[in-house]
Amino acid sequence: SKKKGGNAYSFYEPTLQTLLENHIELEIDIVRAIAADEFCTYFQPKTCALGYVVGAEALIRWNHPTKGLIVPADFIAIAEQYGLIQALQNIVLRDVCILIEQLTASHVIDDTFNVSINISQCQFNSAKLKTELLTTLNDFSISTSQIKLEITESMLSGDIDNAIQQMQELKEDGFILSIDDFGTGYSCLTHLSAFPVKELKIDKSFIDNVLDDEAGKSIVNTIISLAKSLNIPVVAEGVESLAQLEALKAMNIDSIQGYLIAKPMMKDDYVKWHKHNLLQ
Ligand code: C2E
Ligand code: CA
Ligand code: CA
Ligand code: CA
Repeated sequence: SKKKGGNAYSFYEPTLQTLLENHIELEIDIVRAIAADEFCTYFQPKTCALGYVVGAEALIRWNHPTKGLIVPADFIAIAEQYGLIQALQNIVLRDVCILIEQLTASHVIDDTFNVSINISQCQFNSAKLKTELLTTLNDFSISTSQIKLEITESMLSGDIDNAIQQMQELKEDGFILSIDDFGTGYSCLTHLSAFPVKELKIDKSFIDNVLDDEAGKSIVNTIISLAKSLNIPVVAEGVESLAQLEALKAMNIDSIQGYLIAKPMMKDDYVKWHKHNLLQ
């Protein structure tokens, strides 16, 4: 390699080098972990304002042999970058189908119950998304209407026509669509009525401020009113206190997700929680 004159350049080099090596190391570890079956799916219930369970969200976790349980924030971006996200999504969807089968067999859900999965930007842009999803669903006898696809608001700010087209196609196949992290993106509000969505999730950052002051309250109230005027049910994510729940109920929130109700749980714990919730 080329001989460097001074230290100025080589000073920065190891940092970039290390960063790249870390990424590649993680990518190789994800590939290994997929084969070793280390990824698993947690489920967090969603309830109506009265407290009855109406659905659940699937959230991926990595059960690492030496590092312990790893949350998506530490690997999703790398999985997206290295083309591994669809493989992870297939694992999540398989786990979702297994859960729905189990709940159906136990007669503790009806066909209004659906499980949400999070869709990445690169998947949403991919023409293969629909067939990938349908391939897994066909291995089970699960209907598309039992699957809700969460698409973040930020994915809907680029090529709007293209986004609407993609959503429309998914909807025609029976999938239910939800806009996640609402309020954090830049989607034009006038387009909201053109999106074929059945749910809007208010981002946790707004729920965090709902008790702070009039401004925090009024932002959430405005989002709820807007969605209501378009006949789109609204979910509050990250609800942690009873006071928040009461404030949201006063604003006519439709459903709730958050640690106040339950944290994301392993499948068997979720099933126990679900059955217990029905008895209350
Ligand atoms: P998200 O879709 O906005 O999911 C909500 C996150 O908030 C989850 O974090 C959940 O565990 C957490 N949460 C729920 N209720 C509360 C609460 O009351 N308080 C607090 N502090 N947190 C709460 P998690 O599971 O770490 O997931 C983080 C993000 O990773 C998700 O954000 C989603 O964007 C992404 N993600 C998770 N699973 C998948 C997946 O299977 N595929 C893709 N593409 N992304 C995923
Ligand atoms: Ca989500
Ligand atoms: Ca969110
Ligand atoms: Ca998020």
